[in-house]
Amino acid sequence: MFTDSHCHLASHKFSPDELPTIVNNAQAVGIHRMVTLATSLEDCPDNIAIAEQFPQVHCAIGIHPCDVHSTPDDYLSTLRNYAQHPKCVAIGETGLDYFHPAPDGWSDADYHQRQRLFLKQHFELAQQLNKNVVIHTRDRSGAQSLHDAVEIYKDFAHSVQAVFHCFLGPWENAQAILDLGGLVSFTGISTFKSAQDCIEAATLAPAGTFMLETDSPYLAPTPHRGKRNEPAFTSHIANAIANARNESIEQLAQHTEQTVNQFFKLSSNT
Ligand SMILES: [Zn+2]
Repeated sequence: MFTDSHCHLASHKFSPDELPTIVNNAQAVGIHRMVTLATSLEDCPDNIAIAEQFPQVHCAIGIHPCDVHSTPDDYLSTLRNYAQHPKCVAIGETGLDYFHPAPDGWSDADYHQRQRLFLKQHFELAQQLNKNVVIHTRDRSGAQSLHDAVEIYKDFAHSVQAVFHCFLGPWENAQAILDLGGLVSFTGISTFKSAQDCIEAATLAPAGTFMLETDSPYLAPTPHRGKRNEPAFTSHIANAIANARNESIEQLAQHTEQTVNQFFKLSSNT
């Protein structure tokens, strides 16, 4: 059994009516749990409602770096209230996105500065609430956003753990994260034959340092590439990674489930 450690079930690409089918599809192929992540303040109550509706679903609460410009300065107290919900198991999705252009009226410098401020504030909230943090980083080329996020993480690594989600490799970039006690997680990109850096990182990552995720509805793995993704497709990611690592599916399940339980502070029967 596996957990989809990162999906967006409140996305408009899933209609509320079909969510029971989506959750059942996952269950039917051994994906027994999923964590749905909020990306904006408006998104938080929807993700909490989904987590309340399904025992298999937990949620994480945060502001995506591409939403910092539309979030008011005084968002933190609202976020704190949401994050105290019993089914909220992490703070995120937060992070740094230097890939998308700054919105109208913003310079890149101001936009990225606000993202770094929000990331620090998410770490502070996580520290106060004794939760861990889910981080997104993305660059047009290179890995500046990842390096900047690692710098911010350093100040909190003694008390908070971070997962750098949708990790693409190369493996060297994981080292700085793992050295701080952090984790990475791998998406359907690990099933693409062209994604050598990602596959290599998933092969080299020691057991206990990574989780699996779909990031659905985005990033559908082979053989569903280009279509809408869903938590059930975690099984394709698990197959590809077990294969690359020369592990059995059972071995991969055993240590990734343990990592999920530790990171999200879940017990194995939740
Ligand atoms: Zn995401």
